[in-house]
Amino acid sequence: MPEPIDNFNLDLPAELQDMVARSLQRVKKQWSKVDRLQFNNQRRVLKALQKQRISESDFLDSSGYGYADSGREKLEQAYADIFKGEAALVRPQIVSGTHALAVTLFGLLRPGELLLCLTGPPYDTLQAVIGSRGEESGTLAEWGIRHHYVALRDDGYPDLAALEPGLQPRVAYIQRSAGYDLQRSGLTTGEIALLVEEVHARYPEAWVVVDNCYGEFAEEREPLEVGADLIAGSLIKNPGGGLARSGGYVVGRRELVRRIAGRLTAPGLYDSLGSFTEKRSLFQGLFMAPSLVGNALKNALFAAALFEQMGYQVKPRCGEPRTDIVQAIILGRAEKLLRFCQAVQSASPVESYLTLEPGPLPGYEDPVVMAAGTFFQGATSEMTADGPLREPYAVFLQGGLTLPHALWATCAAAKALYEARV
Ligand SMILES: *Cc1c(COP(=O)(O)O)cnc(C)c1O
Repeated sequence: MPEPIDNFNLDLPAELQDMVARSLQRVKKQWSKVDRLQFNNQRRVLKALQKQRISESDFLDSSGYGYADSGREKLEQAYADIFKGEAALVRPQIVSGTHALAVTLFGLLRPGELLLCLTGPPYDTLQAVIGSRGEESGTLAEWGIRHHYVALRDDGYPDLAALEPGLQPRVAYIQRSAGYDLQRSGLTTGEIALLVEEVHARYPEAWVVVDNCYGEFAEEREPLEVGADLIAGSLIKNPGGGLARSGGYVVGRRELVRRIAGRLTAPGLYDSLGSFTEKRSLFQGLFMAPSLVGNALKNALFAAALFEQMGYQVKPRCGEPRTDIVQAIILGRAEKLLRFCQAVQSASPVESYLTLEPGPLPGYEDPVVMAAGTFFQGATSEMTADGPLREPYAVFLQGGLTLPHALWATCAAAKALYEARV
């Protein structure tokens, strides 16, 4: 282990310094697996970009309708190639991951059809899209689109045995990452493969859609490679590589991507319109994404080892399989959640001087504390920590533009908890 990593210069108390050293020792083997993953994913991205013969002119902005934007087309081809779909839609006009998933669901589902959520209630903001909370207008529910959340077994996996054979879902929805739900774990692509097989056998008419947020490049295989029909996600998380200013993507079967494009723009226009600025940052961000994910995974492993040593329950544990970059640490008290996030904020490159306060976020039910001293607003893959202000006060740590910074911020959070002895 290189000396500067062993000795962070954080003025850690001796006992904590020992724990940091032991944690770094403990993750060595997993870190080398991450190196291999990063290497393979980097090669995959590199080959896809070379195949598109990217050149300087592909980075030029288009305006107005954005007809014949060859850079946009090449970017979408590269995404399709990397994630193993027939077609892709990668657009700055998609404002977030939630929006990518919302246009997907509105594009694919028609009144009277059923959305079957295999991984229980989906991510908070998606519940607002579906309309299962009842208040919002413009939801899928208001359009007469039905939904059913499959109960999870005690071990957190979907209870397929409880599914009635009579259900005829149009879309079977899988959320790869667990989000703020501590009852379940993220689903690895191996587990997704089994689910997809089961769903396609029971419901041959159903399209399997995967919310891929936080999962991109975290494993050797992506969901489309194991039979999913469509994936969607956010560009200010993993695939934007920390350089994308905004945007979202969908990749999958051509026919489905076309329906979604018709919803995003208009039927008849589909994917042939859409002006585009800052394509350079999306190409470069995609190129950087495997590194960002590698840093994030290494820091997540380190955090799991360190906070477990400090006596906290962590999810996933250090040696458990991972499918996303998120590390949950169960802190047990609101005060600890606040301290943790404050320490991460104070260790950030942007707005490190801010004092955090929990606040309401659109689409989330409980107030959320969020340390996000990021270059792009809400770009949680840069290295952030957040959590809803509710029992059991878990913090969700993720991201890493650079490994030294991610480790530094994680140690700062550990120190804040250690010193407060709360
Ligand atoms: C972040 C996230 C979303 C929503 O993405 P936004 O860009 O924040 O709208 C959806 N699902 C999961 C699992 C996420 O982590």
